[in-house]
Amino acid sequence: MQELEVDISEDKLNETVEKRLRKEVNRGVQTIQYQVVTLLTTNGQAPFVTVFMYLNEAKSEQEKYDLAMIIEETLKQRYQGVKNEDGVWITPAFPKLIYVLEEDNISEDSKYWYLTELAAKCTAKRMVPDYISEKVMLQNKIDKNGEGHCYTCMGCRSFLTPYVNEDGKPQYYGRFNQGVVTVNLVDIGLSANRDLVKFWNIFDERMELCHRALQCRHERLTGTLSDAAPILWQYGALARLKKGETIDKLLHGGYSTISLGYAGLWECVYSLIGKKLTEPEGKELGLQIMKKLNDYCAMWKKAENIDYSIYGTPLESTTYKFAKCLQKRFGVIKGVTDRNYITNSYHVHVSEEINAFDKLKLESEFQSLSPGGAISYVEVPNMQSNIPAVLQVIKFIYDNIMYAELNTKSDYCQVCGYDGEIGIVEEDGKLVWECPKCHNRDQDKMNVARRTCGYIGTQFWNQGRTQEIRERVLHL
Ligand SMILES: [Zn+2]
Repeated sequence: MQELEVDISEDKLNETVEKRLRKEVNRGVQTIQYQVVTLLTTNGQAPFVTVFMYLNEAKSEQEKYDLAMIIEETLKQRYQGVKNEDGVWITPAFPKLIYVLEEDNISEDSKYWYLTELAAKCTAKRMVPDYISEKVMLQNKIDKNGEGHCYTCMGCRSFLTPYVNEDGKPQYYGRFNQGVVTVNLVDIGLSANRDLVKFWNIFDERMELCHRALQCRHERLTGTLSDAAPILWQYGALARLKKGETIDKLLHGGYSTISLGYAGLWECVYSLIGKKLTEPEGKELGLQIMKKLNDYCAMWKKAENIDYSIYGTPLESTTYKFAKCLQKRFGVIKGVTDRNYITNSYHVHVSEEINAFDKLKLESEFQSLSPGGAISYVEVPNMQSNIPAVLQVIKFIYDNIMYAELNTKSDYCQVCGYDGEIGIVEEDGKLVWECPKCHNRDQDKMNVARRTCGYIGTQFWNQGRTQEIRERVLHL
């Protein structure tokens, strides 16, 4: 300033810097948002990117304050949305946002409570952010030094195992997953024909089958040279290996994980004992099955020094495929195969009447047995005029469950301009989307955003998933 011969007070200087910084943050956040939604990957979709907003990741109070500024701007811009073909603000699917609930932002008198209020408003309108409870995660993710850690998932729900690197430091960024194989639990249940002894025998057989399939994935990667993908293996995205070096050492010792996925715990238990996961006997058997899946992973891990982990598969369109296969093999069985979808991971069936708090509380017990990844959700009506209720759910998440989300609806009809929930109706045996106001059924002329577990989808879905969406009951 002296050099420029400008006479300015310290206060004025700080004020100007702050103002300019906020402008820069505003443009930076906007650039990320627009670059992500206009970028296409090789399969023609926006890249599945997740933004993790965690205040405690900052190394100093100043850094935390700066980070809060970026989080605030990110939430404000997501609340606004992005413009569609007609120039109307709608809900974008990406990037997915995760907001970490922590001591600094969870009570009305905490310093960053205003961010949580903003997050609640944003969730009510745009379905994101989703929520991770630092408190619960620190209890769930404990490394070999006995320290708890809070970190982001990869993609929508895949969590790495706790890991301490060669320097004795905890490491979460830069690691990766070797792949997933998913067991259809409903198939084991039905194959056992209500005989529990038979069930556990078939279970053991299927686990060995899954194990072999996972080993195929692992072996497929073994021997890969770092040169196959230099950005990943040589320039630091996942590692800094030498040219011509294999990636093998990263496949063992916990640097990467490999996932045993599972689906349809609800139907599996019901097929065996005619009880729901929400009933004591059903819950007990459900937890027993989850523990057994973990036992298998622990056994394989010990034998091979590979981090096998249990993963609640997202099952985006596979839900339809699994349901069709079950109907073909076993016919239509009430409460088990009478729908064109099967229930995701350990979830309570979408048509089950249960309130948000009971659902989150019950599912948290299963979630902690699904360490390789899982997410719970509650289905809520339009909550934009009831933000205090959204905040109640958020506080409940903080105290009870590691990772959860709220599903709201904000659709848009391009024909009549209707801004609310677009419904699903049946037309010649096929499920189609219809605007409740003008009855427009042209998918090209509407914007519908729904959670297909973990990620938001905006490209419409197969018949099985559409039926599942239609049958979701509200939990609030
Ligand atoms: Zn309309």
